[in-house]
Amino acid sequence: MQTTFTPAQLADPHVAESERILRKCVHCGFCTATCPTYVTLGNELDSPRGRIYLIKDMLENGRPADKEIVTHIDRCLSCLSCMTTCPSGVNYMHLVDHARAHIEQTYRRPFADRLIRAMLAFVLPYPRRFRAALRLAGLGRPFASLFAGVPALKPLASMLRLAPASIPAASPVSKPGRHAPRGEKRGRVALLTGCAQSVLAPGINEATVRLLTRLGIEVVVAEGEACCGALVHHMGKEEAALAAARTNVDAWTRAIEAGGLDAIIITASGCGTTIKDYGFMLRLDPAYADKAARVSGLARDVTEYLAALDLPEPAVKPDLTVAYHSACSMQHGQKITRQPKELLVRAGFSVKEPRESHLCCGSAGTYNILQPEISERLRDRKVKNIAATGAALVATGNIGCITQIASAAKLPVVHTVALLDWAYGGPKPPGVPEAQARAAAL
Ligand code: SF4
Ligand code: SF4
Repeated sequence: MQTTFTPAQLADPHVAESERILRKCVHCGFCTATCPTYVTLGNELDSPRGRIYLIKDMLENGRPADKEIVTHIDRCLSCLSCMTTCPSGVNYMHLVDHARAHIEQTYRRPFADRLIRAMLAFVLPYPRRFRAALRLAGLGRPFASLFAGVPALKPLASMLRLAPASIPAASPVSKPGRHAPRGEKRGRVALLTGCAQSVLAPGINEATVRLLTRLGIEVVVAEGEACCGALVHHMGKEEAALAAARTNVDAWTRAIEAGGLDAIIITASGCGTTIKDYGFMLRLDPAYADKAARVSGLARDVTEYLAALDLPEPAVKPDLTVAYHSACSMQHGQKITRQPKELLVRAGFSVKEPRESHLCCGSAGTYNILQPEISERLRDRKVKNIAATGAALVATGNIGCITQIASAAKLPVVHTVALLDWAYGGPKPPGVPEAQARAAAL
């Protein structure tokens, strides 16, 4: 694609990067066919190609964002399906990240939208605040239908509906510390305990620590680690995202210097995509560029790490059919497609892949709160495709997808690592007894 940026504009490294990306696009439109919002809404401006044109026009003309571009960029899930499809290697992720930051800097959103976004950024990345907010949500749930009837308050209604009825107790695993390996030590990793996940489903980190230490891996939870920054990054809150990235780079750099790390293990693929991008996000910061690139180079999804280990024979025979849902951040963001399925098969599960597995479930960070209508349409489509597999449960590797799919599916939704932990000698995860009863009744 030809561009007409001036030399003065290109002096801004963010604009220069976006120009490099724009030049790669050959307008072929292949990406439209696999874009969930285009498939759902049928509007070219809600396709990757349409958004690329809108972003190009905004940046080239040095214009502040307007209502039209904000509407179409807000509808983008950042699922990155377009990047998997694109034959020209267009890095849509970096382009839309730049556009979102530009929107945040130049566009004044309506009051209710600003308030909800500020509240999400204030609450979600902080486990204590999130836990307190979930308790309040319990009190507010009876008003969800009322809020749903007021357009500006629909996100609040979605938030209340998505909040779980009960909140698990905080896990000691989420605290900084060291978990010793069993038997001969085979490696040393840091575990990102995460923000929302550690509150909603602390059992995921517990299963990870049990499984890894049983395999001879020392697991450290680094002092000072925090939310990865993905939630605010996707809202265009660039300074907050970079601050989160620096905090984690510092925490893991100390862990590297204190004893070396073979990997930084991530159990929520949404976080993994962002941490693997820290090197790019902090490339212009001389104090952090090298350290951030090192952290990104060590980041591994837990299944990616496990697949490279020499695993023993499973301790139990699960004898269950699982529908594997690949999160967008897993398959498109990190290009991890084989390993989770192969690990499940090796552990004794029968694995089925739902139709349209490339399409997003509609979770996408805060998307299911901020864009509830499109999100629900995508969720229902996903749940229907999962049900058609005839599986007894759903396995996936991202807390956002777990919450989203579980809000409508009749099947239990379990994190892949919890199933692997069970197969290799850990406790049976919640949801499995129900799946076993379902399988027995067939
Ligand atoms: S990231 Fe997903 S929703 Fe956004 S343009 Fe690409 S395919 Fe469409
Ligand atoms: S597939 Fe790639 S090159 Fe083709 S229009 Fe989409 S982004 Fe541009």
